[in-house]
Amino acid sequence: MKIAEVIVDVPAKQTDKPFDYLIPEKWQGLVKPGMRVAVPFGPRMVQGFVVDLKSESEFKGLKNISKLLDIEPVLNKELLKLGDWLTEETLCYKISAFQAMLPAAMKAKYEKKIRRTKSFSEKNTDGAIYKLFQQKESILWEEIANRNDLKLFQKEIEKGTLEVYYEVKDKYNKKTIKVICRRASKMELQAAIHSMSKGAKKQKEILSYFLNHEKIAQKDLLQKLSTTTAPIKALIDRGLLQEMEEEIYRDPYENRSFEKKKPFKLTEDQEKALAPILKTVENGIHDIFLLYGVTGSGKTEIYLQSIDEVLKRNKQAIMLVPEISLTPQMVKRFKERFGDEVAVLHSGLSIGEKYDEWRKIHRQEVSVVVGARSAIFAPFQRLGIIIIDEEHESSYKQEESPRYHARDVAIKRGQSNSCPVILGSATPTLESFARAKKERYHLLPLRNRMNNSKLPSVEVVDMREELRGGNRSVFSVKLLEKMKDRIEKKEQIVLFLNKRGHSSFVMCRNCGEVCNCPNCEISLTYHRYNNLLKCHYCGYEEPMPSICPSCGSEAIRFFGTGTQKVEEELGKILPEARVIRMDVDTTSKKGSHEKLLTAFQEGKADILLGTQMIAKGLDFPNITLVGVLSADTMLHLPDFRSAEKTFQLLTQVSGRAGRHQLPGEVIIQTYTPDNYAIKLASEQNYDAFFLHEMMLRKQNAYPPYFFIALITVSHEDLLYTVSVTEKISRLFQKSLSREAMILGPVASPIARINNRYRYQCLIKYKREPELKNILKKVLDHYQNEMATKGLQITIDLNPQMMM
Ligand code: ADP
Ligand code: ZN
Ligand code: ZN
Repeated sequence: MKIAEVIVDVPAKQTDKPFDYLIPEKWQGLVKPGMRVAVPFGPRMVQGFVVDLKSESEFKGLKNISKLLDIEPVLNKELLKLGDWLTEETLCYKISAFQAMLPAAMKAKYEKKIRRTKSFSEKNTDGAIYKLFQQKESILWEEIANRNDLKLFQKEIEKGTLEVYYEVKDKYNKKTIKVICRRASKMELQAAIHSMSKGAKKQKEILSYFLNHEKIAQKDLLQKLSTTTAPIKALIDRGLLQEMEEEIYRDPYENRSFEKKKPFKLTEDQEKALAPILKTVENGIHDIFLLYGVTGSGKTEIYLQSIDEVLKRNKQAIMLVPEISLTPQMVKRFKERFGDEVAVLHSGLSIGEKYDEWRKIHRQEVSVVVGARSAIFAPFQRLGIIIIDEEHESSYKQEESPRYHARDVAIKRGQSNSCPVILGSATPTLESFARAKKERYHLLPLRNRMNNSKLPSVEVVDMREELRGGNRSVFSVKLLEKMKDRIEKKEQIVLFLNKRGHSSFVMCRNCGEVCNCPNCEISLTYHRYNNLLKCHYCGYEEPMPSICPSCGSEAIRFFGTGTQKVEEELGKILPEARVIRMDVDTTSKKGSHEKLLTAFQEGKADILLGTQMIAKGLDFPNITLVGVLSADTMLHLPDFRSAEKTFQLLTQVSGRAGRHQLPGEVIIQTYTPDNYAIKLASEQNYDAFFLHEMMLRKQNAYPPYFFIALITVSHEDLLYTVSVTEKISRLFQKSLSREAMILGPVASPIARINNRYRYQCLIKYKREPELKNILKKVLDHYQNEMATKGLQITIDLNPQMMM
């Protein structure tokens, strides 16, 4: 095989296909599909992925591959195929699909090196290689990549005496520790000890240590022998000892030991749910389960025991959780059960840490990965189960190219690997629950909470009544009363503020003027700590005005309630209460999220006040009261899922209370108490909500009855934007079936972002086999205008965000 087909890193329509390159003779047999290479492309040198090998090409004058970036494939066969599938499903470029499957470190600048391992020795290593690495511990890959005897290195790597690693540059360095090793022989050490003067007591102690040990981390040595670095330095200078840098995996969870925990004995309900899952694991077949159980019904325990069974069969598991609930508590449960078998991937890790975790997976050194959305691409080779917790979470959809939904990818990988996929939720998406009802998914209900603890009692408070009664506070009389009661009893309170929507916009009470972003059609958000108004879409900021820019009145105020304002009010009305506030401002520093939660868990505060990020995953026994300050904010967004999302969120938040012995209470404050989503959430009645919402979806032709595709066009010129959208809409009108509904062109809900106008066309359809081809044609047609005129066309098949 002399020729490699390569997908090059030039994301454009014209280059979205494999190009043929010659494999230089020295690398023939070495190059495999799934490896990254550097190839000349026009005047440039670009990175590319080898996707196939062949012996002949229809093209003449092929160029050579100039560099190998990997010595083993980074994408296995399954993932390469998955890349093709992603490209088809989401209409993205191949290169974007491949890059989405790898950690960011592999896209960035890096230095690749090759070095000896522990098993490197004169006996089991090729002579020439032994000589080379005897002098140097590691060698830059560049230095050997062009050698004719590269195969020798490959052999050693296969044997395990050499390994390839990346020294990632600039942004993140590899993490090393200083180790001290014995350099001279034991006899020489012995001789040195005898010949030393009495004064060199520490040096003698150190040498004696090395009579029985090969090496030790310097910091451990210092501690063990309570010595300073001076005597060590002296021994190194005499050539008796040697200092080395040793790379270690960055372990975000180091310094923490996890006590090994045994599985619980399952309840009857849990047994019933687990049995069909285990059967698919035993038989190695694919199936999709919807584990539908209220919060605290023991879903996680079922995940753990399913994974346990998978590991017993020497297979591997992917466990997806939403970023926001990838809390230390959650990770702890997995680490306690599976110890070092677990790798964790989430956005809180540095690029280097993520890369280290990925490598553990790539080398099959771990067998469980717990991670957010992109962990679905974990390069396991013996995948035995995929679990998606909180399957309704919108964060499983990637909102940039490739616009994939992790659930779809999971099902695809489940099919390719003949393994089960479990979707878990207390409030499944309508799509999933409808499929379960049609028996396309296997429904596994868990009806009761653990320990038969009751679901908390929920009460809805009408905030309009409060206003009429003269209460202008953000707290209703009832909520305040209950808060006082809990603080007296030394029980804990969670206060939830839904920040989504425009909760702290600035408005003039005199003329009604709202401060909007000059670049985007959206109101600015007030930030108290620096007295600035900020746009959350483009980053624009300006100082808070003291008089209305429109009428000059001083009656300009911010409206709505940010967490800071609530915190201040708490300070006035409950000065004795200790409050922990969790929002983007207090959790932006790495690790602060965890610190705040730990403090709350340890009882260092009475009230945890926060946004979305506290809605999930918290499982603290002492929480007996949950207050939702404003249930409506999300209800009025221009999104057909807003009721569903409100229902899910309220149910999640309510689930934080009374998970253990103490009974829980929930107060939901709202201005629209009669809304069905709020009413049914307060009754925790998913089934009724499902029926009601399905009826509305049917009436309005939305998923799951119809599929939707959203095409958004944006450009700085309004007329141009409209005209392109119009042409596209007309094309659909002409080409799709009569059953399809084409809504557009219309302005997007946010009609301008960063000075670019946005128009859209929404298609609702049931069966349109030609749709993807038409969309491809659209992209083809506009490729020049996209490349040169700054036109943007984004296509989202199955959009989750309607803004
Ligand atoms: P969910 O994931 O549905 O919210 P969990 O699995 O977290 O529920 O279970 C809720 C609580 O019950 C947890 O504290 C968990 O440790 C405990 N638990 C789960 N299964 C059992 C069991 N079989 N026996 C005893 N305790 C259990
Ligand atoms: Zn803006
Ligand atoms: Zn005004």
